[in-house]
Amino acid sequence: MPPAWMRRLEEELLVEQVTRCYERSPFWRRKLADAGVRPEHVLSGDDLHRIPLTTKEELRASQEAEPPLGDFVCADPVEVVRIHLTSGTTGKPLALAYTAEDLRASARIGARAFWAAGARPDDVLLHCLSYSFYTGGLVDHDSLEETGATMVPVGLGQSARLLELWGDLRPTALFSTLTYPLYLAETAEEHGLDPRVLGLRKLIVAGEPGGQLAPTRARLEGLWGATMHDTYGLSDVWGTLAAECDEHEGLHFCGQDGVLVELVDPETEEVVAIEPGATGELVFTHLAREASPVLRFRSRDLAEIVGVECPCGRTGFRFSVAGRSDDMFRVRGVNVFPSAIEGLLREHGLDRFAVILERFPVEPPIEVLVEGVDGREKELAETVKARLGFTCVVRAVSLPRTEAKAKRLYRLYEGDERP
Ligand SMILES: [Zn+2]
Repeated sequence: MPPAWMRRLEEELLVEQVTRCYERSPFWRRKLADAGVRPEHVLSGDDLHRIPLTTKEELRASQEAEPPLGDFVCADPVEVVRIHLTSGTTGKPLALAYTAEDLRASARIGARAFWAAGARPDDVLLHCLSYSFYTGGLVDHDSLEETGATMVPVGLGQSARLLELWGDLRPTALFSTLTYPLYLAETAEEHGLDPRVLGLRKLIVAGEPGGQLAPTRARLEGLWGATMHDTYGLSDVWGTLAAECDEHEGLHFCGQDGVLVELVDPETEEVVAIEPGATGELVFTHLAREASPVLRFRSRDLAEIVGVECPCGRTGFRFSVAGRSDDMFRVRGVNVFPSAIEGLLREHGLDRFAVILERFPVEPPIEVLVEGVDGREKELAETVKARLGFTCVVRAVSLPRTEAKAKRLYRLYEGDERP
């Protein structure tokens, strides 16, 4: 849809959403009233800045006071057909409700993203994320199914069984974390199978920063003889909202009729215009969420706008995610994301690593544990210093195997135990 039409649709939906929040939820009514805002003050995206930003902590406090859904819920309990938990990377997870219409909207938005990432009706698609509680399970399953692909709900912990059934199922596509295709390839090799001849043509990954790094993609594409596309979603908002197209120049925002995106300076909270080169925190406002809507929700994901127009014809802006602001650490004034270290290690053919932060404030040298690095520790430490600007000590270790997301950052001062 051309941008001008899109803006009109957004404005219509925004007015309805803000009014719904104001009329049906004590939480949102309080929040708007405290800021002196009435629904009629918010007529377009340009008026959004009048509403204060919302944090996950506020929503969590609301749910602690009124479990399980909190007083920001806007649907009657009989209208709620499903509750998902957010992944809870930081603190207690949120319980988010969906009406039947919410699930339809979520599937539609997610399907748009997964289509961009290559899912098609003639695919037999393995869904290898956890189905328990969390949005990435059933919600992404529904979205993938909406593309017309034939879904196989695998979940986690089934790799050996999956390989036994492989020849009968003949899967062509895999949806998983970034870590899983690596794990599955190793498991296949242990079973005497070469991943390259298993017929998988498409890897669609989610949930971990680093999926857009060219060396990471090259590594996994080479391992499976498949294409790889990264996706982006936020369980507090919808499931999957954005995905790379075949250009691999950033993630296309695909949630146009479901959520409005702002880019905000995380320190000053000022709105930053969405144009190529702009950076900031992604902030989400629902446009069509009945049960658990959010207004100006801080994602803590730091993004850079890569572009707007795209040869593929999609009009959703394209962005890259450097990582969650919670994962960023500062070494003598240098901001570091684990994904930057990951990109560098992948260039050297290394997949498994962990960063150890002993104390706060973080002081160099930083300890970086890397598997398979033997003999190249010093060379790698010098590359990190030259490219990322901080001093580190690289140690060769063996790290735990996992089907789930890989943990990259260990903050010993917050009680994490060394891997
Ligand atoms: Zn594109």
